[in-house]
Amino acid sequence: MIKENDIYKVTGLDYTSEGIGLAKVDDFPIFINNLIIGEEAEIKITKVKRKFALGKIIRFTKMSEDRITPIVPETIHLGGCQFTQLSYEKEVEYKLSKVNRALRVIGGLDYEVETIHAAKSPYFYRNKTVLPFDKRKSGKVYTGLYRHNTHEIIAMDKTHLDDELASDVVREIRNLLEEYDYKIYDEKSHKGFFRKVMVRVSYYLREVMVVLITKDEYIPKIDAFCSDLVAKCPYITTISQNINPLRTNVILGKKEKVLYGPGVINEKLHDLKFSLSSKSFFQVNTAQAEVLYDRAITLAELSKSDVVLDAYSGTGTIALLASKKAKEVIGVEIVKEAVEDAKENAKQNNVKNVKFFKDDAGAFLTREINNYNFDVVIVDPPRKGLSGEFINSLLKTLPPKIMYVSCDPATLARDLKVLTNKYQIEHIECVDMFPRTAHVETIVLLTSKN
Ligand code: SAH
Repeated sequence: MIKENDIYKVTGLDYTSEGIGLAKVDDFPIFINNLIIGEEAEIKITKVKRKFALGKIIRFTKMSEDRITPIVPETIHLGGCQFTQLSYEKEVEYKLSKVNRALRVIGGLDYEVETIHAAKSPYFYRNKTVLPFDKRKSGKVYTGLYRHNTHEIIAMDKTHLDDELASDVVREIRNLLEEYDYKIYDEKSHKGFFRKVMVRVSYYLREVMVVLITKDEYIPKIDAFCSDLVAKCPYITTISQNINPLRTNVILGKKEKVLYGPGVINEKLHDLKFSLSSKSFFQVNTAQAEVLYDRAITLAELSKSDVVLDAYSGTGTIALLASKKAKEVIGVEIVKEAVEDAKENAKQNNVKNVKFFKDDAGAFLTREINNYNFDVVIVDPPRKGLSGEFINSLLKTLPPKIMYVSCDPATLARDLKVLTNKYQIEHIECVDMFPRTAHVETIVLLTSKN
């Protein structure tokens, strides 16, 4: 039996779905941060659970040739950003093999994916940053990311994933918080003003949104604070205050006030313009999102006579891009704000052949499938994949083409196992949307066997 504090010599065999190193002792899985496949290390067991244990590296006995020095050294303490110490080429190779393994093992499919679109720049790509604040006894304010498996913030001047313009803004905010001597929110006592900051940067248009997340609504001298911030960072387009008075890990509260500017920023995807509010969903890696959308729409070979369903449509990105090639596009999405944004985006871009509905994708398809004759169904579900109801409706009515955009290879493989009873796989490829993390996007074109 494995016990806490036991010492073992192990070999890195794989990574967990969050990118933590995986080794085994007598077939029992041990999760070890910072262990790369092929590396050997002496480890100490720190926690034992029913199905796995956690371990910590004491010393390496064999290091991998694929190991690199992380560009932001503090990232070695994080969980879920495992790949900062693995060469980017190996990361991309690993992701492709992970997708292929899921298709084979979970999906029982005989298909080998060969293409993965690697990112041109695997760092500083995130267009949305959320960072918690903390303050030292000396009065120094710091931001950073949480240490692996803890709530302790590791102070970082900049992170390795966030757009560097956002890191510049956060640096100025920290300086000003010190200057104004504001109290920083403390989780334990539930006291203090400033909890977190969210910064959104539009990748192409370089507009910047700052959202100051505070516990209380009244913050003394907040207007002067905002003027000083804009004087230091003139490229800030808008500042909002989001009030989150609850004891919670949820980032944003319900109430929000615009303190400066229009409360939204604009982004461009090809020749379409999107307005983003603080709460709208937008893919965090704009450059790779374009690659993903382009490939999905190109592979779907839409024609001017096609009626297309964009299920799980978010703020309408895929639907609006597809609208130019199709006769009509119907978007369905469950979040009300996202649907409102999607409608507004259609209006702004003068797109007339799309309609958006707020509904559960499965319920919508079951109800409406006989009212529309969908030629192509595009799906982009969250990690849990398609609902049983959605798949059943597809299998009953058999729209000729399905384009499945997935952010989770395991649920994709599970869904493909069922869909391939009536559909055949024409093509699969991957896009690395989230470099330096364990996540990967996959797109699959299916055609009906009928
Ligand atoms: N295609 C969009 C959004 C993809 S993210 C884009 O690329 O920007 C997945 C979306 O599915 C989210 O917007 C989420 O709110 C939505 N969603 C989650 N569950 C849903 C359901 N049951 N029915 C419809 N939409 C759902």
